Amino acid sequence: MPVIPFSPPRIDDKIVDAVNEALRSGWITTGPRTKRFESEISRYCGADKTLCLNSWTNAVELFLRWYGIGPGDEVIVPAYTYAATGNVVLHTGAKLILADSGETALAAIESIRSCITERTKVIMPVDIGGVPFDYPGLYSLLDEPDIRSKFVAGSTWQEKMGRILVLADAAHSFGAKREGRLSGAMADVTGFSFHAVKNLSTAEGGALSFKLPSALDSDKVYSELAILGLHGQTKDALSKMQAGAWRYDIIHPGYKCNMTDIQAALGLVELERYETETLPRRRAQSLLYDMYLSGFDWAELPRHEALDYSSSWHLYMLRIKGIEESQRDAIIAECAANGVSTNVHFVPLPMFTAYRERGYRIEDSPEAYRQYANEISLPLYYDLTGEQIDTVCRVLAAAVEKVCS
Ligand SMILES: *Cc1c(COP(=O)(O)O)cnc(C)c1O
Repeated sequence: MPVIPFSPPRIDDKIVDAVNEALRSGWITTGPRTKRFESEISRYCGADKTLCLNSWTNAVELFLRWYGIGPGDEVIVPAYTYAATGNVVLHTGAKLILADSGETALAAIESIRSCITERTKVIMPVDIGGVPFDYPGLYSLLDEPDIRSKFVAGSTWQEKMGRILVLADAAHSFGAKREGRLSGAMADVTGFSFHAVKNLSTAEGGALSFKLPSALDSDKVYSELAILGLHGQTKDALSKMQAGAWRYDIIHPGYKCNMTDIQAALGLVELERYETETLPRRRAQSLLYDMYLSGFDWAELPRHEALDYSSSWHLYMLRIKGIEESQRDAIIAECAANGVSTNVHFVPLPMFTAYRERGYRIEDSPEAYRQYANEISLPLYYDLTGEQIDTVCRVLAAAVEKVCS
């Protein structure tokens, strides 16, 4: 029986040719392709500046460390997210504060409000499945006088910011829009992931896009972070290449997380066809799922569009009404036995050993648990055909029937 995978990357001749060209150009580490990818991302999403790095994880950790986040600080992250969002905060030694979900998978503004203290420096909302978080709502909260007056800066950059910084986990939401703004221009800083399963992939990769208040100069922030991501070295490989320009300084004991031009070569192809091919295709596939599944009263469909937002259609996050976790797991096993791969987004952070050991309890995030327990993500990727979507829905419906009757 043919197996329908969950989310293979789109690898066609265009991608293979672009990678070949990059290899044959003789320049394979950070160079002209990476710089072009950065400026094209900024242009596409309306950010002031973009820095490409080797993953979302390293990009966001680099930013948090540069911003002076460490022991004594608090960073608010939703309980309902991928482990990367929480792990990077734990690496810095800051205290990770988990906000609960609300009616939807996204963190509830009211829960975020209850998490804010004088130690809060950064809030990291997650655009789950590609649906953009309510950033305008969060900025209004941060503008409330009693929230503003709580803020205490712990570094020069934090002082310039003068309030809690919003760092969007946009690993899923490249191309998503809310109130006329694209992901990348909705928060102070936006972290993108170009990992193999994401909408736009460079195999592995990530980026930080900046839309900072004018007191923080995005160009300056960009160049400081680019240096910190390359051993704190004042010259990158490209500028050291000029004949005789060998001398450089190390101004911080930096990290090593730059993007290669081979990765950027993939990214440039994917970005060029993102609006014309990737997003319309994912939208059409999601609508086809909606059409098939809306006929079942057990199906709670994901909401990808409304008057004020549109998603990047990263995940088709279906929920089965009224089932428990064990029934969900049985449905997934039944689908797998019939050649359909599905997935679960996400196991809330407190359910993992590493987080339990650090004192987090799922009882404190009941809505995140509720979002997780009956969720099944269906296959969604560029090459998925209408016929395969039909198969997925038939196999799923039979599995639900078998497990729930
Ligand atoms: C994939 C993902 C990340 C991590 O991205 P990497 O590029 O693999 O580091 C972070 N957050 C969320 C929500 C993700 O899905």
